[in-house]
Amino acid sequence: MRSIVLATRNPGKLREIQRVLADLDVRVTGLDEAGGIAEPEETGQTFAENARQKALYYARATGQWCLADDSGLVVDALGGAPGVYSARYAAADCPPSAGRETLDHANNARLLRELAETPEEKRTARFVCCLALAAEDKILIEADGVVEGRIAREKAGENGFGYDPLFFVPELGCTTAQLSPEQKNSISHRGRAVRRFAELLKTHLTRT
Ligand code: IMP
Repeated sequence: MRSIVLATRNPGKLREIQRVLADLDVRVTGLDEAGGIAEPEETGQTFAENARQKALYYARATGQWCLADDSGLVVDALGGAPGVYSARYAAADCPPSAGRETLDHANNARLLRELAETPEEKRTARFVCCLALAAEDKILIEADGVVEGRIAREKAGENGFGYDPLFFVPELGCTTAQLSPEQKNSISHRGRAVRRFAELLKTHLTRT
C-alpha cells in the first residue's frame, strides 16, 4: 500500500481527503505524524505554484509521496485579489497575534470595503483550489477545482470558514456558509479538485 503525506495539520482537511481516497490502495496521513518539520514559505504567484512548492518541499523532507493544496478567492473587480494572499488579505488591520477567526472577520470586512462601489453584475468571483502530488524531486499529478459565485453585500450563514459568508452561489440562491459540509463539499473548489485528483491517482497507480 502506498503512503501519502498530506501537507496539512488541519484534521478536517485530512479526514475529507481520506474519505475521497478511501477506495484506493493508499494510506493518507497528516503532517502531525511526520514529526517536527518547519513550514516552507509560500512565495508562489499562483495557487498551482504554491501547491507544487509545498508538495516538493514536504516530499523531500519526509522521503514520502506528498500531496499539497493551495486555495483562495479570486475577485474579478479586484484584478484577481485577494488570490494567493486570501488568508492574510487584511492582516495589516489585525494585531500580529490575531487568530484565524479575527483574520477571517477582517478579511471579509476589507472585501466589502473594496467592493463598496462595485455594482451587482461586476461582483463575480470564484474559489480556486490546486492540488499537487510530489515524489522526491518530481510532480506526479496536478488537479484543480473551481466554484463560481458572486460577492454578496452582507454576510449570510454560519457554516464554513473564511469568505464563505460572503460567497453567494446564484444557482443555489445562498452563500457557501449556508450549506451543510456535505452540500458544500459536493460543489466546492476543494471537493472538485480532490475528486479529480482521486481519478488521476487511480490511473497513476494502475500504471506504476
Ligand atoms: P487554504 O489554502 O485552504 O489555506 O486557504 C487560503 C485562504 O483562502 C483561507 O484562509 C480562506 O481565507 C480562503 N479560502 C479557501 N478556501 C475557502 C473556502 O472553502 N471557503 C472560504 N474561504 C476559503
